[in-house]
Amino acid sequence: MKEILEKQRAFFNSNQTKDLNFRIEQLQRLKTLLLSNQNRLNEAIYADFGKSPFETFTNEFGLVYLDIDEACSKLKKWAKWKRVRTNWVNFPAKSYIIPEPLGVSLVIGAWNYPYQLALAPVVAAIAAGNTVILKPSELPSNTSKTMAELINNFFDSAFFHVVEGGIDDTTALLEERFDKIFFTGSPNVGRIVYQAAAKHLTPVTLELGGKSPAIFTEGANLKMGIKRLIWAKFLNSGQTCIAPDYVLLPKSLKAEFLRLAKEEIDAASYSPENGNYIRIINDRNVQRLARLLDQNKVYSGGKIDEENRIIEPTLIQDVTFDDAIMQEEIFGPLLPVLTYDSIDEAIREIKKREKPLSCYLFTNDSVLKNKLLNELSFGGGAVNESLMHISNSRLPFGGVGNSGMGSYHGEAGFRAFSHYKSILEKSTWFETKLKYSPYSEGKLKWIKRLMGMK
Ligand code: NAD
Repeated sequence: MKEILEKQRAFFNSNQTKDLNFRIEQLQRLKTLLLSNQNRLNEAIYADFGKSPFETFTNEFGLVYLDIDEACSKLKKWAKWKRVRTNWVNFPAKSYIIPEPLGVSLVIGAWNYPYQLALAPVVAAIAAGNTVILKPSELPSNTSKTMAELINNFFDSAFFHVVEGGIDDTTALLEERFDKIFFTGSPNVGRIVYQAAAKHLTPVTLELGGKSPAIFTEGANLKMGIKRLIWAKFLNSGQTCIAPDYVLLPKSLKAEFLRLAKEEIDAASYSPENGNYIRIINDRNVQRLARLLDQNKVYSGGKIDEENRIIEPTLIQDVTFDDAIMQEEIFGPLLPVLTYDSIDEAIREIKKREKPLSCYLFTNDSVLKNKLLNELSFGGGAVNESLMHISNSRLPFGGVGNSGMGSYHGEAGFRAFSHYKSILEKSTWFETKLKYSPYSEGKLKWIKRLMGMK
């Protein structure tokens, strides 16, 4: 590892990654590598959780290809030196900002979208001119192994290298000095990464998780809202960081909501055979979800097939904030439905908890919409939609507080892996005496006047 790090540092210092054409070429090579090995990559993820080629394209590679295409077409604009106005105090001069790569970066991926969550930050790192060490999650072992084999045989390890491994290997990796760490995973491990980064004062982006609420208000388009909500919740069997974790609605909507939600689940015919339902990642998570599920409160679903690691899409009613399922991020196909008496009560309950990664508002009431958007703090979200905000690369994606720090996708990804170097370039034909001694009342008056003070 140390050897690869040294090679990467030397490569970075050779300035080759500063060349924008080099970065574009590497991004295109990555896309070609992935496209020409699509079958192999599909088989690996199918072996890990039974994910179909359709979902592997729409939820994993499609997003990575869009990121690559966007970075290639906009890189020259993002990397431009940006002129800003110079203030009077510094006259005559020009001022500008130079985006520069941070250096040797470490990307640590999570397991739930193993390709997308590993490769999308890598695209941003390369676009910004960094070298990259990628540590994918070890849990989906086939995808991790396949990425390592393909990438390490294709890219020079001095520029881009995959290191496989679990907790011990990641702990060892985190001992090393990086110029940027980009971590996707749980808030608990996020804390460990942040502490390790502090030792070297390494900047971090932490893409974490949390309990993302979906709030319905009176008068919402219930049928359309439920269609979008159910799709988002049960995609990837609920193992999505921005999945709606639970539903909050007025008591008056409860019966209608449950009836329509069940209808929507039935119509979707979720099953691995239909290519729209995947396995839970491992036995430990099946058991964790089984513990969170109070069978007495199940409205529909609730069956757990431990042997095949399949949990039915499940609606849970009469849930309160004190129930076990409301104490942690669910990260599985269980949807608790809670009711509120007033929107202020709903806001109070959400605010008592950690700031979520996402929030979804289903409403046709613009006053309530503005109130919720104004009063609740969360990473990002959608109105009358769920999940899809992630697909617009013009919307920086990331959390706040316990759900993360920093953001990426599109230009935000480029920014996450860049330092913005501010330069004041002074002309030499003129100089005032104002800042130099001997000081005087008159000079001070002038300085204040130039600063816009009376
Ligand atoms: P995790 O935190 O268990 O693991 C993430 C990575 O950290 C893995 O590569 C793992 O090997 C490594 N790791 C685990 N324990 C470690 C330790 N003690 N020291 C050092 N490294 C360690 O997370 P996960 O189970 O892979 O993913 C689920 C979590 O990630 C959920 O909370 C989910 O919301 C969140 N998530 C967030 C996003 C996002 O974009 N914000 C995306 C996906 C998942």
